[in-house]
Amino acid sequence: MKNFFIILAMKVLNIILKICGKHGGNFLGKVAFDWNPEIFKYFKVTCPVIAVTATNGKTMTNNAIGSVLNTAGKKIISNKEGNNMETGILSTLLKSCTLSGKINADYLVFEVDEGYVPVVFKDFRLDTLVILDFFRDQLDRNGEVESLILKINDFLKTYTGNLLLNNDDPNVSRLGLANPDNKNVYYFSVDRYQYATNDMKEAGEGKFCPFCKTRLEYEYYQYSHIGKFKCPNCDYGNNKIYKQAKNINLSEMSFEIDDVLYKIKSNSIYIIYNFTAVVACCSLYNIDTKYIQETLANFELNNGRLEKLIIKDAPTVINLAKNPTGANVSLRLLNEDPDEKELLFVLNDNKADGFDVSWIWDINFDSLNNVKRVITAGTRGYDIAIRIKTAGFDENKIEAYLDLEQAVYALYSNTTKKYVIANYTSLQPTRKEILKLK
Ligand SMILES: [Zn+2]
Repeated sequence: MKNFFIILAMKVLNIILKICGKHGGNFLGKVAFDWNPEIFKYFKVTCPVIAVTATNGKTMTNNAIGSVLNTAGKKIISNKEGNNMETGILSTLLKSCTLSGKINADYLVFEVDEGYVPVVFKDFRLDTLVILDFFRDQLDRNGEVESLILKINDFLKTYTGNLLLNNDDPNVSRLGLANPDNKNVYYFSVDRYQYATNDMKEAGEGKFCPFCKTRLEYEYYQYSHIGKFKCPNCDYGNNKIYKQAKNINLSEMSFEIDDVLYKIKSNSIYIIYNFTAVVACCSLYNIDTKYIQETLANFELNNGRLEKLIIKDAPTVINLAKNPTGANVSLRLLNEDPDEKELLFVLNDNKADGFDVSWIWDINFDSLNNVKRVITAGTRGYDIAIRIKTAGFDENKIEAYLDLEQAVYALYSNTTKKYVIANYTSLQPTRKEILKLK
């Protein structure tokens, strides 16, 4: 009875919020969760529940899986706006359930914050968990990446659903051994791409075997610590691969899985990893590859995740980077592009960003390829300017602004190609300033 009234109250509250023009975000879930922390048990779900977690790439992968299922004619419920903690997922469920807690959909697809997987799915069924990667991320908020992995490992000890893991991330593929009785562990991988290297070029974790502590041996690195590795001592890393992307073609923007060609709208290796996870996840549910092809050929997030725009005749790529790997992936794309370009880096240190900006020293700014000018902005715009100068970039070509509007105005004083990197709270304000010029 109590849960019935909680749901009723939240539905009324949702209507009031809507009338006031508010979206609700995490709010409904927060109120309901405070009222009854076990409310997740109350929902009656008969359809498959899919969750995506990672340090980077959750939103894109989650939304792409949802889009494929939509294209295949399935009704999905998803937290597409990225409210990915227990309160955000609960809000999504509260908005879509009946008063008796029944949820009518063909699939539930959720992006879940790495730290909240055990919280959300303690009392809520989970059929497929997709894990993309683990990187160092906002140390002052999240702590060491190892403690996060151990938390998920503990959760997985009793989990028997589908577990879809990135075999090329040693931090992720180790989780396949968390429950030796789980027969539903699947690994995905991406074959060597043209800019893979023999040495690690960027900050990375997981240099040692989690089982026998021997140093891992890499055949190649794709980016950060993602690559083809194995433990020379205990053979860790030698898994049977369920889906592997091959023939990665960045200029054609395509890859192949099981001889099916996927055309995409991006030339980033990082996105090909996300989409390989999408293909693998959808094939677990026997979704016809034609729906996946059709969706990926048109899929773009357009919310500052490798978003491409033309502003005042200048081709522009905007990307979120809230940790070193996110920034390094953007810079990799910039460096793989031979054209002349300019970089705008916006760095804030608001609460949601973490107050500690020391992570910028793990960004690889060495040898920026054909970058003619760097502009920095944000509450820590001077810190990032100093970081880039220290990496050896000519200081006369660096302009630091405290005012974002001025920075963006200066950036578009010419039509040279632009790469824009912004961290968490600076991303949307930066987009807004840029879109004003469109
Ligand atoms: Zn080992």
